[in-house]
Amino acid sequence: RSTTIPNIDGSLNAEEEDEEDDVVDLAANSLLNKLIRQSLVESSHRVEVLQKDPSSPLYSVKTFEELRLKEELLKGIYAMGFNRPSKIQEMALPMMLAHPPQNLIAQSQSGTGKTAAFVLAMLSRVNALELFPQCLCLAPTYELALQTGRVVERMGKFCVDVEVMYAIRGNRIPRGTEVTKQIIIGTPGTVLDWCFKRKLIDLTKIRVFVLDEADVMIDTQGFSDQSIRIQRALPSECQMLLFSATFEDSVWQFAERIIPDPNVIKLRKEELTLNNIRQYYVLCENRKDKYQALCNIYGGITIGQAIIFCQTRRNAKWLTVEMMQDGHQVSLLSGELTVEQRASIIQRFRDGKEKVLITTNVCARGIDVKQVTIVVNFDLPINQSEEPDYETYLHRIGRTGRFGKKGLAFNMIEVDKLPLLMKIQDHFNSNIKQLDPEDLDEIE
Ligand code: ADP
Repeated sequence: RSTTIPNIDGSLNAEEEDEEDDVVDLAANSLLNKLIRQSLVESSHRVEVLQKDPSSPLYSVKTFEELRLKEELLKGIYAMGFNRPSKIQEMALPMMLAHPPQNLIAQSQSGTGKTAAFVLAMLSRVNALELFPQCLCLAPTYELALQTGRVVERMGKFCVDVEVMYAIRGNRIPRGTEVTKQIIIGTPGTVLDWCFKRKLIDLTKIRVFVLDEADVMIDTQGFSDQSIRIQRALPSECQMLLFSATFEDSVWQFAERIIPDPNVIKLRKEELTLNNIRQYYVLCENRKDKYQALCNIYGGITIGQAIIFCQTRRNAKWLTVEMMQDGHQVSLLSGELTVEQRASIIQRFRDGKEKVLITTNVCARGIDVKQVTIVVNFDLPINQSEEPDYETYLHRIGRTGRFGKKGLAFNMIEVDKLPLLMKIQDHFNSNIKQLDPEDLDEIE
């Protein structure tokens, strides 16, 4: 599978916009998040825990030492620069490392430390002296499997003789090969093939089974059923762990089918708010007029860093070219780029090498570029029934109340779109002021 992201920004025609596109996009977004992630994502919420046995004591840890890990594993954790467990790890690790093993379903947004937690669990349960697969981790794509494998390699740096193998398409294993690696990470289809058809993995010897990115997994045709077939062949004493960034009913139903008697841990996502955002709109005749208005405020917006959103890929490209021709320095983050290319553009923006980023909705979800102080909606987010897309509006300009700084948002509005903007204003019960682009003194 290539890492090219399909377009979800509205410029697709109906035919192209099939389910397949969304699927790839979920996985690609998840990968992008991993590639640009530099540190833990904070949350002011409390971790919610639902124990399978409510009467058993609930342990949490504040340090990694309390977990009594193997020396070499602890060394690996510190070598990664981790000082103390993340919020979700405080609760999850004692359950994951308990004797006898406990099953777990855990949900928290990307970047909160789930991968590090289950990698730690796998490494702590592996016996380096036994040369057969002992831990099995399912991931939705080849690239995501590799990302997890990298974490195993980094954390397990001092665990000599523990090795990872990838059960992914393209990794050809000669006939008659005996798999001696202890940790297998792969996509459901290939893992199934390796277990049942090629008999490379003996599932009855697996001690830890991880199903990562369950929300992305169930969105991919066939993956739920394949995962369940694999799970059914595991021994009853095998520890089963499931992770997901989101938790709609469908994920929950799947999780309950595949993880018997689980403990459940949830960390709610920080809510977005428009409270700290001053919102303006500029009334325009047409696209050219919007462009002119944007140029008028350009000097003002480059004082900080800005993201400009367009509704379609084509519009974003047009705007980028126009601005460049007028001598403005902007960069384009487009759905046509590979995940790696997108990650590198976001990185340049983060490093302050780029001041203005033009993009479509692909960038609005999941990616937080903390230092963005100004957002321009060159086009309002609108859904297929020509109604305002409130959620996308919130994602584009909203900030988390506790960690976010103040921001400015500008909406470039064609006269006929004004009623939509008014709906947005009502929906969020906020005040969007009209701005005369010739007179920027009005900006408070
Ligand atoms: P998730 O799987 O929930 O997306 P990760 O496990 O990938 O989260 O962690 C997100 C980022 O935080 C990674 O860069 C990871 O190295 C780092 N990280 C994870 N746990 C800790 C910790 N306890 N202390 C510091 N950094 C951590």
